[in-house]
Amino acid sequence: MPRPRHCRRVAHLPQVTFYKPQGVPLSILQHIALTVDELEAIRLADLQGLYQEQAAEQMNISRQTFGRIIESAHKKIADALVNGKALKIEGGVYTMAEVRKFKCYACNYVWEIPYGTGRPQECPQCKNTNIHRAEDDRGYARRGGHGFGRGRCGRF
Ligand SMILES: [Zn+2]
Repeated sequence: MPRPRHCRRVAHLPQVTFYKPQGVPLSILQHIALTVDELEAIRLADLQGLYQEQAAEQMNISRQTFGRIIESAHKKIADALVNGKALKIEGGVYTMAEVRKFKCYACNYVWEIPYGTGRPQECPQCKNTNIHRAEDDRGYARRGGHGFGRGRCGRF
């Protein structure tokens, strides 16, 4: 039996999941599938500029695994840019980072922020500072892959 793949922790889901080169007819357009965990590796290392050790820690994986993920991601993106292919972001082995839920006692607005980002100072809706952890917040982890193809994380 193959060893179960370790769950990769992802804190950011993409707003846009499909990129298509302009002027290439759909009939000859090739697709590259970039996984959600590969995009997260790009976000942490290339956009936030984290060292691979730090980025691996955030995703809850080894540095070796992180190195493989980001190498694969770079190769796919390069292939898309150089060869004019479409890029689709979907699937992957991941779980969403755990979130904390807060509630504003002034306007009843409820919102979530990932762990490790610090306590919010004010309500994003009405700017009131009378905010507390929401009662139903138990630090749950959301199911991986929601809305992005099948997440195949073994934890669930
Ligand atoms: Zn409020």
